[in-house]
Amino acid sequence: MKKTILIIEDYDKSLRLFKLIIDSMGHRVLTAMDSEEGLRIAREERPDLILMDIQMPRMDGIEALKLLKADTRTEAIPVIALTSYVMKGDRERLLAEGFTHYIPKPIDKNSFIEDIKRVLEKYQRGNNDKSG
Ligand code: MN
Repeated sequence: MKKTILIIEDYDKSLRLFKLIIDSMGHRVLTAMDSEEGLRIAREERPDLILMDIQMPRMDGIEALKLLKADTRTEAIPVIALTSYVMKGDRERLLAEGFTHYIPKPIDKNSFIEDIKRVLEKYQRGNNDKSG
């Protein structure tokens, strides 16, 4: 099923790559190059999934996630963190902040697609299956 996915990423080359891949999956893609714009689009469009870069100027992805979680319009949207800072404990820290999932950069195209599919399936709107 066609979903709406918002990508928030300040590096244009990465943004274009992610958009290209998600376009090829048949989904509708919205893009923002900073957190402020991303938050505005998230509130207006209520996407099915958000891909959030962590390292961004002014407001980073962790701060932006807190604002998404504090707003009833966006609190239920799954958010995948994208980050190139891969250190021991990073994954756990990001999940503890409230991210649904974590994808390290540079991405592996096939696992990127699989991760997005899995999160979309798990967090389908109106899905009352509590088994998994
Ligand atoms: Mn960045």
